Amino acid sequence: MKYISTRGNAPELEFEDVLLAGLASDGGLYVPKDLPHYSLDTIRSWRGLSYSKLAFKIIQPFVGGAIDDAALQQMLDDTYDNFGHKAVAPLTQLDNNEYVLELFQGPTLAFKDFALQLLGRLLDHVLTKRNERAVIVGATSGDTGSAAIEGCKHSEFVDIFIMHPHNRVSEVQRKQMTTVLSDNVYNIAVEGNFDDCQNMVKACFADQGFLRGERRLVAVNSINWARIMAQVVYYFYASLNLGGPDRSLSFSVPTGNFGDIFAGYLAKNMGLPIDQLIVATNKNDILHRTISQNRYEKHALAHTLTPSMDIVVSSNFERLLFDIYGRDGQLLADLMTRMNSEPVELDSARMAKVRELFDSHAVDDPQTCATIATVFAETGYLLDPHTAIGVVAARACRRHSDRPMVTLGTAHPVKFGEAINKAGLATPALPHHMADLLEREERCSLLPNSLAAVQAFVVKNVFDA
Ligand SMILES: *Cc1c(COP(=O)(O)O)cnc(C)c1O
Repeated sequence: MKYISTRGNAPELEFEDVLLAGLASDGGLYVPKDLPHYSLDTIRSWRGLSYSKLAFKIIQPFVGGAIDDAALQQMLDDTYDNFGHKAVAPLTQLDNNEYVLELFQGPTLAFKDFALQLLGRLLDHVLTKRNERAVIVGATSGDTGSAAIEGCKHSEFVDIFIMHPHNRVSEVQRKQMTTVLSDNVYNIAVEGNFDDCQNMVKACFADQGFLRGERRLVAVNSINWARIMAQVVYYFYASLNLGGPDRSLSFSVPTGNFGDIFAGYLAKNMGLPIDQLIVATNKNDILHRTISQNRYEKHALAHTLTPSMDIVVSSNFERLLFDIYGRDGQLLADLMTRMNSEPVELDSARMAKVRELFDSHAVDDPQTCATIATVFAETGYLLDPHTAIGVVAARACRRHSDRPMVTLGTAHPVKFGEAINKAGLATPALPHHMADLLEREERCSLLPNSLAAVQAFVVKNVFDA
């Protein structure tokens, strides 16, 4: 399979290079040149497969010849055997025809494990084959960092540096990162906010000279195609467990960077009968404003009880716009430049296409907490605040009560105790495998909000150690 950049001015790459590249050299994001499409008969034949066997069917064509089939299946088995539930992505019923797909059974208790536990293995495989070493520099508001660290902590080929905003991630999230004491793991608390961290990551990618041409810089956020690819699988898995492909179903997706829901859009394009795809946002609602009012306009970052969805812009929206603009890279490059500097309105035909594909809804903190409380009273089931936003949006946007509505359960409630307490409920106990998390030793370096300081720290630890 070949991959092309959304901005039309970067080389076509094979899977291995896309995995290692992150952003394309023209500033665009990589997408498959041709998406596989499956008949209903083929999809039906996947019924009853285990999660990792189904993952093989979906992922193998994207990987192409880069990894032989047996090795790929082994990686998938190893990745998903390590989840805390035999079904890997179990469905829980909330109401008549309404479900939560629990994507938080992985080692760090958020859906990012689905992609990042696999990404660590893919990187190791490819770097071993090439005899190369890589450096990961990533920014996190909490969940990406812990999942990426967990995925790479055993790697001999990767040094991983994760920046988080000092004092702005929850205690559980911080400890999940800082108590991993492997030699190749470096946590950096930055005296700044998440945007500052992300801007430094972008600057590192834009000019990699600080690595002296000796190490490759690899991305772990959802601009990395491999993350999106791994997330397509659970849309198929949910459908096959709810009578698909012989009936269609809808998904409500708590959204920040538009990565997770973009994977749902791909599943639909690959032939999976999906009725509605609902974009659920918090107060940082640029996507909801774009879809409902046709006005794409950046607002200042708001800090909410759902920090993993606190964004100013959603980077993966570019991948959707590429399709909406007929895959014309030049047109899209111009659009992205405009979107970066001024409010933008799409023309009505293109906007109609977006609206045909997506519904949207924005939810504030009080409503999020009220929903956690209501659903707990109705069912005894405790939602994390991100998932609760998905449930509100699902109920607000639903068009067909006879079709299953599935909200993606993106995190375990134990990670977000503040919201649970504000809903008037007690924080649940930590799962068995991390019961002693809060007592474990931490290792973390506090650095100023300075690119030079961060790069010097990376260089010192990569080259002088
Ligand atoms: C990352 C994250 C999201 C948002 O996912 P995107 O792919 O950025 O849309 C939602 N909920 C939780 C708990 C997350 O960690």
